[in-house]
Amino acid sequence: MHVFVLADPARCIGCRACEIACVAAHMKHDMGQAMEDSLPFSPRLTLIREAGVTAPIQCRQCEDAPCAAACPTGAVTSNGRVVTITSTLCCGCKACLAVCPVGAMQIGLVAGEHALPVAYKCDLCSGHDTPACVAVCPADALRVFTKENLQHVAGSRRQQSARQLAEPGYSRET
Ligand code: SF4
Ligand code: SF4
Repeated sequence: MHVFVLADPARCIGCRACEIACVAAHMKHDMGQAMEDSLPFSPRLTLIREAGVTAPIQCRQCEDAPCAAACPTGAVTSNGRVVTITSTLCCGCKACLAVCPVGAMQIGLVAGEHALPVAYKCDLCSGHDTPACVAVCPADALRVFTKENLQHVAGSRRQQSARQLAEPGYSRET
């Protein structure tokens, strides 16, 4: 199972530290110099504000990767751990963006990647032990989900559901 980063909206305070850390982790330039040079700010996760909650949305590193299946140029591939984009192969056609079920894929200018808009998304900060967004979040709202984490979450939810079923007054009638 691929690992991926997931946000807890109950913890997220919407500070955007994750977006800044993401850009810094992927940029070869100094951030201050990048701002002076007006280089594109292209975080690989997107903070959304909706119905009173905030949370960053990012790639789930899908095992079946519909984005890879849709890509006509072979720019999106999976190595069994992470789904990655080879920007030099990307023609910016947006097919991957159209099929992503969570809206994680983005198209735009990325500093140092390509002169034209290309697809980009979370790559788990390859080369780093911990993704930059997870490491920087001051509210501990982001975590790396592994197969073991997910099994634990599923088990906890089942127990919670069983307790609700056992509560006095619970009825299967709706
Ligand atoms: S935008 Fe790029 S990565 Fe996405 S489907 Fe088109 S060529 Fe492939
Ligand atoms: S970009 Fe979307 S479709 Fe592709 S692996 Fe990530 S979540 Fe899945």
